[in-house]
Amino acid sequence: MKQEIAFRYAVDRVNEARIFGPRTKLRPIIDKIPDGDSHFASKRVCALVRSGVSAIFGPQSPKTSAHVQSICDALEIPHIETRWDYRLRRDDYSVNLYPHPSSLSKAYLDLVRSFGWKSFCIVYEDKMGLVRLQELLKTPRRNEFKICIKKIPYGDDFRSILNEIQIRGEHNILVDVRTERVFQVLKQAQQIGMMSGNHNYIITSLDLHLVDLEDFRYSGSNITALRLIDPDRPEVRNLMADWQAGRILYTNKLGDDDIIMKTETALMYDAVKIFVTAIQILDNSTDLQMTPMECEGETPWVYGNSLINFMKVEMSPGLTGIIEFDPRGFRSDVTLDIIELKRTNLQKVGTWRTEKGVNYTLSQKDTHTEEREGLANKTLIVSIAFNDPYIMLAESSERLTGNARYEGFCIDLLSELAEKLKFNYILTPVEGNGYGSIDKTTGEWNGMIREIMDGRADLAMTDLTISYERQQAVDFTMPFMNLGISIMYKKPQKVPPALFSFLSPLSIEVWIYMMAAFVGVSLLMYVLARVSPYEWQNPHPCNPDPDTLENQFTILNCLWFALGSLMQQGCDFLPQAVSTRMVAGMWWFFTLIMISSYTANLAAFLTVERLESPIESVEDLAKQTKIKYGTKSSGTTKNFFKDSNLEIYQRMWTFMETHTPPVFVDSNAAGVERVKTDNGLYAYFMESTSIEYVTERECSLTQVGGLLDSKSYGIALPRGSSNKGYLDVVLLTMQSQGRFHILKNKWFRQKRGGGKCKEEAGGGGGASELNLENVGGVFVVLMSGMGMALAVAIVEFGLECLDIAKEEEAPLREVLKRELIFVLKCKGSSKPVRKKAESDEANGDTEYGSNDYNYTAKNPLT
Ligand code: GLU
Repeated sequence: MKQEIAFRYAVDRVNEARIFGPRTKLRPIIDKIPDGDSHFASKRVCALVRSGVSAIFGPQSPKTSAHVQSICDALEIPHIETRWDYRLRRDDYSVNLYPHPSSLSKAYLDLVRSFGWKSFCIVYEDKMGLVRLQELLKTPRRNEFKICIKKIPYGDDFRSILNEIQIRGEHNILVDVRTERVFQVLKQAQQIGMMSGNHNYIITSLDLHLVDLEDFRYSGSNITALRLIDPDRPEVRNLMADWQAGRILYTNKLGDDDIIMKTETALMYDAVKIFVTAIQILDNSTDLQMTPMECEGETPWVYGNSLINFMKVEMSPGLTGIIEFDPRGFRSDVTLDIIELKRTNLQKVGTWRTEKGVNYTLSQKDTHTEEREGLANKTLIVSIAFNDPYIMLAESSERLTGNARYEGFCIDLLSELAEKLKFNYILTPVEGNGYGSIDKTTGEWNGMIREIMDGRADLAMTDLTISYERQQAVDFTMPFMNLGISIMYKKPQKVPPALFSFLSPLSIEVWIYMMAAFVGVSLLMYVLARVSPYEWQNPHPCNPDPDTLENQFTILNCLWFALGSLMQQGCDFLPQAVSTRMVAGMWWFFTLIMISSYTANLAAFLTVERLESPIESVEDLAKQTKIKYGTKSSGTTKNFFKDSNLEIYQRMWTFMETHTPPVFVDSNAAGVERVKTDNGLYAYFMESTSIEYVTERECSLTQVGGLLDSKSYGIALPRGSSNKGYLDVVLLTMQSQGRFHILKNKWFRQKRGGGKCKEEAGGGGGASELNLENVGGVFVVLMSGMGMALAVAIVEFGLECLDIAKEEEAPLREVLKRELIFVLKCKGSSKPVRKKAESDEANGDTEYGSNDYNYTAKNPLT
């Protein structure tokens, strides 16, 4: 309905209602005053007043309006406007039903705040748009928003500026263009992929209900606007039905303007209404007279002042809400509906009032259901990057297509989310497998983060770490896995046991002290035995009166006694005196403790594998340069060292950054390979969960030390995405049901060779058996003991033969030969006693009889 027609219609309805009695009617005079020539405009307005008018409505043009205004002021004729006017003051005889731009601007500011936007772009058409949004541009709180402002170019192609916004990664857009252009802007945004579930639009036109939004209903974008009239209100509906019936009656057809009411039409209708209300009141109190007036004349219209005052003080309900004015003639306490494009159509979700601000009336539940419905049947583009076991190529003998080509922890997680929220998804591997890092000089992001920012993906999933920097560019869901940086390194090597490992249970000092104790005790025994009279015994007990007494504790016997006790064997003579028995007792106690300790410790030493690792912690790694260390060439682990303020990590970063050949690798898989092949000369900083996965399968690798930090993986989505809320709800439910744990078990411990290292470790059984390497030294000692014994025996044999040869005065060779033959014959265990020689008797040697020979039995210990 056009304004002019609306005006006529409103007047007609007043006349039909016979508000002013059966004969008095409002007589509308409609004149089109062309914009531009001010002299001509003034003449036309003067012609109007000359015919006698009680009020002038309009016009819409600011320039012409100014002429009308000044004439009305001079002649005290009420001037009623319904146009957008940014002036801060109105003249006395004027009211404007259009909400003041500062009110609207405040409404948009409140709306932006209620959405929690931290940044947005304003797309505007002319400078008035910026005036309209001045409250927003003034950014009430410092750094509250980051705003970019883009003016649409002349012509019909706005894609260039929309593209610029897309490159910035901005998803919140405030569109301030004429209502007729809104569709064009939205359509072009849709064409360049800016109409996804992550994009949010506020349209400043109050007539969004006039725009055909059919194409955008299922886009998932949030399109919000404010409106002054609610087309669903009974008054508005009745009025439109009445109007349409009239139009059909007179013109037989309905035009576009007849179907939906424009804001300016409603304002004009309301303008007539408040005028009629005021004039009714005035008419009741005075005899209202219309008088023709002259622009040049001095006398104003006498009723003008009262009429305008009644308009200002009287509060009346209209199509555009309760109409009341402040003393300046602007509308006060405006109420605007907040409308959002839903799948059905535009829906009122709340209201904004000058005094109270934003008030959402659509309940949380409704919104949530709406959102769920919004996600249901939607198809999300999910950007993925490969890393075992989060995202992997599926193993199958058949040719796979579509989403079936991928599998892993994240794929299972996503399919559970999709099942619960009933959305579809398309997996798209990101080019270059980049997760997303920022180029500090240009501020440009790459990888999956870029995909999200550019609207090419709705979600990004992999082992994507939530970081402060990334959080500035995208949103993250709640975390689905917690982790920290740690070191992956070769498992400690088994130390080959030393030949003389049986000596290990006691330290060298203890061995030396034991030897010293052994010699010391033997000497003490020798001395005490000589001192004590009880150790001197009769060598021939049958002879009660011996000439000599014998002491069995010679120095050699003492050593033998001490050795026998030390070896837990004992010997065939024992001390008799108390003093020597005390020495023996103490020595036995000492040996008991020493030998038990040795045995216990030996058992532990021989059965427990000694593992040795050159590094046990990050500090060990930092203080050496032999073992190189590195990280993935782009990722949060590298950034951790790069941005760290701790001296140790800064030092490590300098080492990594400057080392040639480079210590950074392209992927975790490459890092693992390098640790394996560099034989203990390379350690790789990796996220603990990934280390867990690797060490389940690569048994030669292990995690060294604890965690350097603590962080989490999350799903990335565009800033301000409405999807975040309900993805979070499902993730929380999954967490409370232990689904993450189950999925982790499946992909970390079971699938693709998981549990391999556990089997190997368990397969060997309990304590490992001792092999030759463990006990080799004992054999060596035994053999060398045997060897020495053999040598001593040879010497003894040789000396004995020399003796015999001397005695018999026979050649040594013969004696040797004869004795050797006797020995080697190995026949019998008795030997004939050698004939006693005269000289021998003098020596007192004992002789034992035999058939053929005389032998002297010598006790080596005496
Ligand atoms: N998860 C890391 C990221 O999101 C990649 C691996 C790493 O840096 O160790 O950047």
